[in-house]
Amino acid sequence: MKDLSDKDLVNAASMLDYSVDAFRARIPTSMHLEEKASETLALEVVQTVDFDCPVYIERADGCRLIDVDGNSYIDLTMGFGAHVLGLRPRSVEAAIKEQAGKGWHFGIHNQLQFQLADLIAAARPNNEQIAFCNSGTEATMYAFRLARAITGKAKIGVFDGAYHGAHDYALVKVDPTSCVTKPRAVLDGAGIPSWVRDESAIALPYCHPAAFDQIRENKDDLALVCVQPVQNNNPSLDNKEWLAELIQVCHDCNVLCLFDEVVSGFRLAYGGAQEVFELTPDFTVYGKSIGGGLPVGAIAGPRAIMEGFKSVSTDSGVFFGGTFNGNPLTMAAGVGALGTLSKDRDIIYPALNARSDRLVKDINTFAQDNEFPFQAVNAGSLICFHFQSERIRSFRDLNNRGSFAERAFYVELLNYGVLVPAIHLAFLSHAHNDTDVDMIVDAVKASLFAIRDMKLI
Ligand code: PLP
Repeated sequence: MKDLSDKDLVNAASMLDYSVDAFRARIPTSMHLEEKASETLALEVVQTVDFDCPVYIERADGCRLIDVDGNSYIDLTMGFGAHVLGLRPRSVEAAIKEQAGKGWHFGIHNQLQFQLADLIAAARPNNEQIAFCNSGTEATMYAFRLARAITGKAKIGVFDGAYHGAHDYALVKVDPTSCVTKPRAVLDGAGIPSWVRDESAIALPYCHPAAFDQIRENKDDLALVCVQPVQNNNPSLDNKEWLAELIQVCHDCNVLCLFDEVVSGFRLAYGGAQEVFELTPDFTVYGKSIGGGLPVGAIAGPRAIMEGFKSVSTDSGVFFGGTFNGNPLTMAAGVGALGTLSKDRDIIYPALNARSDRLVKDINTFAQDNEFPFQAVNAGSLICFHFQSERIRSFRDLNNRGSFAERAFYVELLNYGVLVPAIHLAFLSHAHNDTDVDMIVDAVKASLFAIRDMKLI
């Protein structure tokens, strides 16, 4: 990416404004809603999704979102990855409707929980028992607590570039100026006590053998190493050997190894990244896709681990609560989604992964042929866009986040009818067909040409 002089920066800002204004003219109702929202909402959806052009969505079907002004977009948000089958798949819609007619929240046992648990258990041999909660955040929070209770140790190892949710113990990231092989943990945002950083967290380098030395050195304090087998920002399927060694080192050090498959579970394959890599961690957290698009999280593991949740009546019991845990509406939606994914897994996953690979290949070929400093990287249908040509090996290699070029790119994509939330992440689904993929590739090409015409790249 070229360095911009002060004059270029002013020019770039006005080009971005021009592009934003042109698109905003197409979404008058959304613009009105945004104004209204700013009065009563402290923030919308999540902090990380910071649209220059906020579109308010009215309805969804297949791979398309329709906004309140009637504009249609091919969606690559897919509910932040929750929708593997696409938006409003009929199996999930029917299950939700049926359950809504019977009641959606009792707080008392319901048999849909077993059905969803069975579908999750069928994904991996180690998923002997499942506990449901309401988000991926809750799932990692409970998993961290469970690991501490089982091992009697306090610290949690988390990796450079990881995301494990919004609770205090997960909001530890790596100081990018710290040593690659011995990263330093810093807190992600205000309001988290400094002892979380000092007494709870150990930062580890992702996909780096130095992580093994760190685990060995800290084995007396480490309860758990939590790892995304495929990271959201840096998706790759090259991690198998490193992950296998990680599991082994944790095992040797009496440290539990948790795979966070909140995104990758039931998306890369029915059995998630574990199936792709043929690996088995001590236990796993899921979320997103297992709820068919309704709020959900789950911890899954062998009986010996999961029995920690059985009771709080003894001092060794681990507290587990939640008004909406296992509610029948989420369970029904999850059964609708995983039922279809399980039945048609041999058709859905190969096709979805091949289509995603094709999308990425077509975009990268175009970007290289035209010397655009842009690339798409993917692991199956988890896709990431980066405004740089250099190969990305770690989170620290990521540059140009939030550049004018990047921001204008997402606005132009909207102009060409493709919606990617401005967090670089894009998800393809079973509902995106080959024509949709062609349209996405064309939109990416046109958007890149547009920002080159604006002299932003
Ligand atoms: N773990 C991973 C890998 C995630 O990507 C996320 C959310 O994106 C979470 C955990 C937290 O899940 P939730 O947003 O449902 O709390």
